[in-house]
Amino acid sequence: MSAGYPIDLHTHSTASDGALTPTELIARAAERGVRIQALADHDTLLGVAEAVVEGERRGVRVIPATELNTESEWGDVHVLAYFVDPRDSALEKRLRELRENRALRIEKMVMNLNGLGYPVSFDRVREIARGGSLGRPHLAEALFEAGHVTTYDSAFDTLISKGAPAYVPRVGLAPLEAVALVRERGGVPSLAHPGTAIDLERLLPLLVEKGLAGIECYYPSHTPEFTALCLRLSVRYGLVPTGGSDFHGRGDHGSDLGGVFVPPECIAALETHRSRD
Ligand SMILES: [Zn+2]
Repeated sequence: MSAGYPIDLHTHSTASDGALTPTELIARAAERGVRIQALADHDTLLGVAEAVVEGERRGVRVIPATELNTESEWGDVHVLAYFVDPRDSALEKRLRELRENRALRIEKMVMNLNGLGYPVSFDRVREIARGGSLGRPHLAEALFEAGHVTTYDSAFDTLISKGAPAYVPRVGLAPLEAVALVRERGGVPSLAHPGTAIDLERLLPLLVEKGLAGIECYYPSHTPEFTALCLRLSVRYGLVPTGGSDFHGRGDHGSDLGGVFVPPECIAALETHRSRD
C-alpha cells in the first residue's frame, strides 16, 4: 500500500458494456483518488483516446487495455491485454470480428427470449449499448426496462446466465489464442478473475507457455483464501499479480473504482513485459 493512492487495472465504459462514458469514468476515478487506471473494455480500444484526454486533465494515468472473453471446456477464461496500441489496425480488425460475434450472440439470445415469451427488440438493445461493444448487460437492461424482470441482476439469474433458458454460448477465441494474440500485438496479457476458469492449475502452465504475464489476484469477489492461492500461483509461474474492480457502473456487482487493493509495483513489473519495437 506504499503508493498511498488507489490503482484500478480493470474497468469498463460505454465503449463496451459499462454505464459511464470514458470521460465520466475517469472523472469518477479521479474523484475517488485513483491515479493509475486501465480502461479494459471488452473487445475494443475505441474508448481509450477519450479516456486518455480526460486522464491528462485530471491527473489519472490511463493504461490502454482490452478484455478478451473466451468460453470453452476451460470455462470462462478472460484475458486482460495491457499496453496494447489503440492505433494498431491489425489488432482493431481482430477486435472488430470479435465484436461482430458478440452482436450475433446477443441477437440469438433476443430470438430465444422472444420465443420464450419475453419480447425485447434487438434494435432497443443496440440503442441501450449506444454504439458500444454489445454484451449481456445491455440485454439485461432491456429486459428490466420491458418489465420482464424485477431487477437488473435477476435478468441474469433467471434468463441469460449459463444454464438459463435464453442463454447462448460464446463463439470466438480459445484461451490460448487470446493470450497468443495479445503477445503478437505487443501487449501484456493477464488472466482476469481466475475463479471463473475450470481446472485453473492445469490451465495456467499452458497459458504461461503462450506468454501469459500476469494473474488478477485482487478482485472484488475473491475470498482471502482464493487471493492467497492466486498469489502462490503467481510466484510459481513468475506472473505479475494484478487487480481491479471490474467496475461497470451497472447493477450491484463488484466494487467501486479503486475499491480493490492493487500492488503499486505491479505497474513497473507489467511494463517490463512490453515488447519494444
Ligand atoms: Zn471485466
